Amino acid sequence: MKNNIEVFPVIVPAANRLKSYNFFLVKNEHSLILIDAGLNTEDCWDSLLKTLKNHGFTLTDITGILLTHHHTNHIGLVNRIVSTHSIPVYAHPYAIHLLRRDIEYVKMRAEFFRKLYQEMGEKQVANLKNPIILGEKNKIHCEILEFTNHQLFGFELFEIPGHAPDQVAFYHKDSKWLFAGDILIDTISSNAYIEPNYDGSRTNSVIQQKLSLEKCLSLDAELVYSGHSMIIKTPNELIEKRIKELDEKASKYINIIKSGISTASGVAQLRYNDRYEKQFFSIMSQVIGYLDYLEFQGKIKKEMEKGIWHYYK
Ligand SMILES: [Zn+2]
Repeated sequence: MKNNIEVFPVIVPAANRLKSYNFFLVKNEHSLILIDAGLNTEDCWDSLLKTLKNHGFTLTDITGILLTHHHTNHIGLVNRIVSTHSIPVYAHPYAIHLLRRDIEYVKMRAEFFRKLYQEMGEKQVANLKNPIILGEKNKIHCEILEFTNHQLFGFELFEIPGHAPDQVAFYHKDSKWLFAGDILIDTISSNAYIEPNYDGSRTNSVIQQKLSLEKCLSLDAELVYSGHSMIIKTPNELIEKRIKELDEKASKYINIIKSGISTASGVAQLRYNDRYEKQFFSIMSQVIGYLDYLEFQGKIKKEMEKGIWHYYK
């Protein structure tokens, strides 16, 4: 046991670009914590039980669950675990209404995206409503506790929004191990997803992503336990690469704006072709996030004409 902490990764293969769904059993002096909870599938459930068994534990030995963010592939087994024995589940305050599927919030969020897509020049918003409805299927039924401290179960907590507004990292200082959700993935650069802020404005997802990457860099972690793909052994190198890629991507968007395409929807269709409709939600998040980033840097500006935002160099 290094520095009083032992990590038992649960790695479940994924047949997509993420390569795997990862979540982690972490044993320290007084607790056995689960960081994230995979997808709600038999594969994930069996892998969790097997990992517990291999290390001499059972389900009821788990003393608490920490969630890095609200996405469905990180929270899947929470309801099942908590139904076997009652343990505290912790998440960022922003995640609570998402995880609980609060009806007022779900309605506000759907209206937020409908209006956003319309203003970004997408003409068929009515046909695209599905991705913006939060399904009941992944609702968390138990009580969820908000992180109120910056210390929990021997970890330091850091907010690292961008990929999700509620994303947090858990840092174990003595071992320099960082559990960082999806901010850093070995095989792909992590998407930044727009969500509504409490006041109805949108999150500056790409700007946040960059700041969060810089925050992780400053920790000088030795190992990053990532939510997907491999555990990252030279994190600083990869973080620097991701920050560089972010700015390279931004300059591609400037070039599209320069060529005379002025709406976010137009930019997305040009850049992503037939992927545009299939991956509408994540592509529009990317494009709008990058346009916000460029506007923030003063490299482009926008003007509203007849209810639609147009971007200019
Ligand atoms: Zn995620």
